[in-house]
Amino acid sequence: MAERAQIVIIGGGIMGLSIAYNLAKNHGIKDVVVLEKSYLCSGASGRNGGGVRAQFGSESNVRLMQESLRLCREFAAEMKINVWFREGGYLFLTRSAEGQASLEASVAVQNECGHPTEMWSPAEAKKLVPELDLDGVVAASYNPNDAVVFPWPFVWGYARGAQSHGVRVRTFTRVIGFETRGKAITKVVTDHGAIETSRVVNAAGAWSPQVAAMLGVELPNKPHRHEICSSEPLKPWLTPLVADLSNGLYFSQSTRGEIVGGISNHDVPEGIDMESSSKFLGLYAKALTRTVPLLGAVKVLRQWAGCYDLTPDQNPIVGQVDEVEEFYQASGFMGHGFMMAPVMGKLLAQHIAEGTELPLFSRWSLRRFKEGRLLREHMIIG
Ligand SMILES: Cc1cc2nc3c(=O)[nH]c(=O)nc-3n(C[C@H](O)[C@H](O)[C@H](O)COP(=O)(O)OP(=O)(O)OC[C@H]3O[C@@H](n4cnc5c(N)ncnc54)[C@H](O)[C@@H]3O)c2cc1C
Repeated sequence: MAERAQIVIIGGGIMGLSIAYNLAKNHGIKDVVVLEKSYLCSGASGRNGGGVRAQFGSESNVRLMQESLRLCREFAAEMKINVWFREGGYLFLTRSAEGQASLEASVAVQNECGHPTEMWSPAEAKKLVPELDLDGVVAASYNPNDAVVFPWPFVWGYARGAQSHGVRVRTFTRVIGFETRGKAITKVVTDHGAIETSRVVNAAGAWSPQVAAMLGVELPNKPHRHEICSSEPLKPWLTPLVADLSNGLYFSQSTRGEIVGGISNHDVPEGIDMESSSKFLGLYAKALTRTVPLLGAVKVLRQWAGCYDLTPDQNPIVGQVDEVEEFYQASGFMGHGFMMAPVMGKLLAQHIAEGTELPLFSRWSLRRFKEGRLLREHMIIG
């Protein structure tokens, strides 16, 4: 007999696991299977910078991230796992008058939401990080409550938490198709057999369009390789994560002392690609040593890459679609899906379990692209 589940979640990244955990813990829905084609942390969730911030430009993102930051702060105690949560703040830099105006508008939104961010002059930013060379920087914004976590234990924490409530997490199990009756899903087909279900969550990150296409649903997300690297460990000197909005450079110091960072590279063609390149190292080294000249003497120890999951308006795609019944989306989280997962997992689980219709689900529905209701997010890194 085929296996059955009340809900099947495709993707064992932070998003799928957070939804599974919240379904089981908050709503008592334990008959859930999470399908992951590879190992946990193989997707973007195991390859990111671990940055967690509420400095965004739109009210939705600021408010969501205030709640996510609260959940991150409580995560270690709730899950009994150390996620190396380090509240060192985020320092954003901008190098143009236009960038400054946009940053000021974002900071105003953050303060209206109660996330107390300050606009700073370059001199004030230098007081916080004296090692910075701010020649060319016109303004900065700083919030001490933004933070950094170590991504892997966060993913493992959700997986273990979900499993402890009865969720089945299947690694090395790839979804290869579906069976349907009219607009309803009847089975999810994997390379290890089929699972009978009528409710499916697509949390396959950069692979979400491939999964949706198996049901004839077209998602506008585009995968885009982003590279990142880690230096040899240094004694602690850098408190905030520093991000330069003019070129997408970002870097922070891990609790082990490494400088972990990356930069935008707009020459990378779209598509699933997780290879590392020397071009990235050149771009990153040039921008990093211009911003912190002292780092020119430091060695890179490790370099890796993952996929951003980009949408046309830089906001995610969540909730149900018109074409297929009970086919929920949770993708398109750009370069900030890790930090969004604690709050989105909670809200999506509530939406799936209780049918709660939040304004957010209409604002971020797939339908918005057809209807031309795009709301752009400007505070994007990378
Ligand atoms: C270099 C880099 C730096 C980043 N920095 C940050 C940061 O500082 N802060 C932040 O918040 N975010 C950051 N991000 C973005 C963040 O990592 C992602 O938004 C987030 O991890 C997405 O989680 P996810 O669960 O949606 O996707 P993923 O973690 O990619 O998980 C999707 C999973 O689905 C699986 N899958 C795909 N197809 C199938 C199938 N057919 N069957 C079964 N399983 C399948 C994949 O194997 C994958 O494991 C960064 C990303 C990168 C690449």
